Amino acid sequence: MGNVLEIIPLGGIGEFGMNCMAVRYDDEMIILDAGMGFPEESAYGVDVSVPDFDFLEEYREQITAIILTHGHEDHLGALPYILKKFNVPVYASHFTVGLAESKLDEHDLLGDTLIHRVEPRDVVELGPFKIEFIRVSHSLVDCFSLAIKTPVGTIIHTGDYKVDETPVIGEPIDLRTFRRYGQEGVLALLSDSTNATVPGRTPSERAVIPAFEEIFSESKGRIVVAAFASSIHRLQIVLDVAQQFGRRVCVLGRSMQKNVEIADRLGYLDIPDGLMVSLNETKHLDDDEVVFLVTGSQGESRAALSQMATQSYKGLTIEEGDTVVLSARIIPGNERAISRLIGAIYKRGANIIEEKRRLIHVSGHASQEDIKIMTEAVRPKYVVPIHGEYRMLFRHKEFIKNHLGYDEEHIVLIENGDVLELDGERAVVVEKREVGRTFIDESGFEEIDRETVRERKQIAYDGVVTLVITINEETGAMEAPPEIVARGVIGLEGSNGYHEDAQRIITETVESATLKERQDTGLLKERVRVEIKRFLQKQTGAKPVITPVIVQV
Ligand SMILES: [Zn+2]
Repeated sequence: MGNVLEIIPLGGIGEFGMNCMAVRYDDEMIILDAGMGFPEESAYGVDVSVPDFDFLEEYREQITAIILTHGHEDHLGALPYILKKFNVPVYASHFTVGLAESKLDEHDLLGDTLIHRVEPRDVVELGPFKIEFIRVSHSLVDCFSLAIKTPVGTIIHTGDYKVDETPVIGEPIDLRTFRRYGQEGVLALLSDSTNATVPGRTPSERAVIPAFEEIFSESKGRIVVAAFASSIHRLQIVLDVAQQFGRRVCVLGRSMQKNVEIADRLGYLDIPDGLMVSLNETKHLDDDEVVFLVTGSQGESRAALSQMATQSYKGLTIEEGDTVVLSARIIPGNERAISRLIGAIYKRGANIIEEKRRLIHVSGHASQEDIKIMTEAVRPKYVVPIHGEYRMLFRHKEFIKNHLGYDEEHIVLIENGDVLELDGERAVVVEKREVGRTFIDESGFEEIDRETVRERKQIAYDGVVTLVITINEETGAMEAPPEIVARGVIGLEGSNGYHEDAQRIITETVESATLKERQDTGLLKERVRVEIKRFLQKQTGAKPVITPVIVQV
């Protein structure tokens, strides 16, 4: 093959999170972003998922780099997992590197990873790819779009962005550079769709300042602000308004403390001397002299805010007179947890301010008019909507078609695993590859295989049955009646006789086996399991996990 560019998303298309994309020309491949995803509730005990990087195995020798657009978990969280399989250099901004290093450190990978810090307008050459990093605005700081010059044309990957001319921290979006590429000619724009269903422009990060000033001027008691730990602009605003109204700031929650530390160390946050106080120091302050900046805006039960609302967090409890500000959007799937949290805060007698009541949150993603500005600046031959659920990708396409005059052939909807081939003339999905997800247990950073998740689900729905069979090793005779221990199984208790029937079936199964078969515990277990499974399914309809145990005496 040759003369064609392949774009293969491993995640992030048609779903929220897990953004990751392979870009390949001839025998060289680069990876754009390595994000984690957040599985639905039914994935029992699974905290996060990452793309199934086994897909990349056949390209092992071709992968030359991982390039990160920004530091959000859905773009960076899978970095340790991909690096464990493919140890290649990483390119990212200073702040993204700050977050990445802290993550790699937790995984003990810091010493083995080659990381390149890049600045806006830097150009990195990797084989056939010439990559320029372009400043964009987002809810996080130090975020990039990528302009990738390839032998078939230039590709622009927007990363996550909005058009913010007045960010709180750092430079505004660099539309001049986008326009420059537009003038030179852009083959394809891979463009953020997260907010493609939202009309109008996304407000600037600064838009929330007046509401915060109002809240601070009205509140007589303590103020608790819950925000995403990564919303660095927002954190700066809270610090500034606190300073303005003579309140000291106490940061609570592990991720919030970590991000404030990194952003402060790298010079992204401007923290006035003496503004920050420890939890202990707040005890000597009056209620109207303190603001708590906390984690838990999504109702996460282990986070600081939920604990303050339901019991206590390090001795701190929400009380009557407090004002709690939820300065974040609701991530789909968290509605019920947030609703419970709000109820708990009301029960405590505190006042709560949500996004719907005041402008205390703005999105970090491009709304339709932002998308228009970006697309008109770049004027690509093809638009490829990325980042978002299918509904958002589709609406992105409709918007571009109806408002920017693109026809169907020049807007390409792709899905995870699609191989999108571009040769400068056409953009066609030529193949669909199998790309899955890997579940991660965050407590030990372990991968959980699909079978374990399936088994957990089965236990949750139908329970577990343990069968204990005691056999004489010499004679093969059963030394005691079989024991049946059922947990969470309907029908095996009580007077319906199923318990006795099951015992009888086990005994018959063992007795019908030859001595040789009885001494083969693996074989005997499987036979008993199959018979009991059949019996339970027929009698009760239940499909519990069945675990036979053979005790040889
Ligand atoms: Zn983001």
